[in-house]
Amino acid sequence: MHDIGKNIVGVVLACNNYEVVDLGVMVPAAKILEEAKKHDADIIGLSGLITPSLEEMTHVAKEMQRQNFKAPLLIGGATTSRVHTAVKIAPGYTEPVVWVKDASRAVGVASSLLSDTLRSGFLAKHQAEYDEVRARHAGKKSNVRMLTLAEARANKSKIDWSGTTPPAPGRLGVNTLRNYPLDELTRYIDWTPFFITWELHGKYPAILNDEKIGAEATKLFNDAQAMLKRVIADRSLTANGVIGLFPANSVGDDDIEVYVDASRGALRTTLHTLRQQDEKPPGKPNRALADFVAPKDSGRKDYVGAFAVTIQGADELAKQFEAKHDDYNAILVKALADRLAEAFAERLHERVRKEFWGYASNEALDNNALIDETYQGIRPAPGYPACPDHTEKELLFTLIDATKNAGVKLTESFAMLPAASVSGFYFSHPESKYFAVGKLGKDQVEDYARRKGMDLATAERWLSPNLGYEPE
Ligand code: SAH
Repeated sequence: MHDIGKNIVGVVLACNNYEVVDLGVMVPAAKILEEAKKHDADIIGLSGLITPSLEEMTHVAKEMQRQNFKAPLLIGGATTSRVHTAVKIAPGYTEPVVWVKDASRAVGVASSLLSDTLRSGFLAKHQAEYDEVRARHAGKKSNVRMLTLAEARANKSKIDWSGTTPPAPGRLGVNTLRNYPLDELTRYIDWTPFFITWELHGKYPAILNDEKIGAEATKLFNDAQAMLKRVIADRSLTANGVIGLFPANSVGDDDIEVYVDASRGALRTTLHTLRQQDEKPPGKPNRALADFVAPKDSGRKDYVGAFAVTIQGADELAKQFEAKHDDYNAILVKALADRLAEAFAERLHERVRKEFWGYASNEALDNNALIDETYQGIRPAPGYPACPDHTEKELLFTLIDATKNAGVKLTESFAMLPAASVSGFYFSHPESKYFAVGKLGKDQVEDYARRKGMDLATAERWLSPNLGYEPE
């Protein structure tokens, strides 16, 4: 979502007298290294938000090696991990590559790396730890038995379509919701992730009374409430969204045909899903999202939905605060915009279930039940574990013309702009659930690439965190 983590790292380091050159987001490797040379940087830090940045980080490390850099490389951000850093990034660069779990640790790591007395001890420990991570990772791989794609398909989710009539939406097609009332959204905000953004770990509302961090959390919460009031009153943030509900059926096991209209005569698009391919214990299926949509040959008429929501104006407002050197409120605005976007997604999903699709018109859930997503149906988001391929966002965006209708753009690497945006698909079946696709065999990646009309190397690049084999 947002570059908040990176901003917090910048603030924390600056408060500890480090000079930080923040190059912003989506900066090419060449530019990062050029600026690092120009400023004679002691340390280079990279922050990764979505899958493609993982690969980019590996590339930056190799470039640093090639250009004889000596500065340590710090890795952070939502999609990164110690394992990924140790296994994929660190081997490309002979100088230290260190994963920094959260912003509060940045100072400790930076000061150790730059200290004459602490550096060698820190690095010895670091090296031993990463060697162990790599060894464990190498050992683990061989333990997972992968099925062939055909075997995995033969073990798909067992849903008996003969006995069911999928619910037909009351309103098919695309609905645009512009300038959606923000005050309607505030009660749908899930506050727990808001505190996590600020590295205050604890469940809301209990966190407000936490012995250790309660006072800090309460202050932050009050500031957030005041800022919410302000942006609602002065309309500096705008909520725009679009939803679409379409006739659809699954075909060929793993794809979903989306039709132009109820006659199902013409195709709007075909969505592609990925199937779990690791061997499951007896009784557990190898899932793909397509399992949750009635197969065409079942003769059942089924449907899928798509949505995109965004909060516009956060970056502009944050810039105003930054201009006044008020980093705290700049970060607060971005964090609130993210929360409002998620709240908007939750609220629209509720309205889809109760009104637009209408399969749960009698649903009456309180906020906790909504936050726990205990309702019927799911809204998986491309790039997340059930559908890790970010490139499917392009099909999603075309389906509902998200750029024109909601003002959300896709970057080259399929990140959404503004950053406070959420998009996904809707599935209604009572058995539909979130899962992780996990590791993929080459047979599936080849098949998937073919179905998408993509070359294998491109598919492997987009699916790199999920490859259960070494690509050539
Ligand atoms: N209340 C949370 C909601 C966001 S996380 C918040 O405000 O932050 C939950 C969302 O992430 C889901 O609604 C879905 O869109 C996505 N998601 C979670 N797990 C997923 C999975 N395994 N596959 C695809 N999408 C997933």
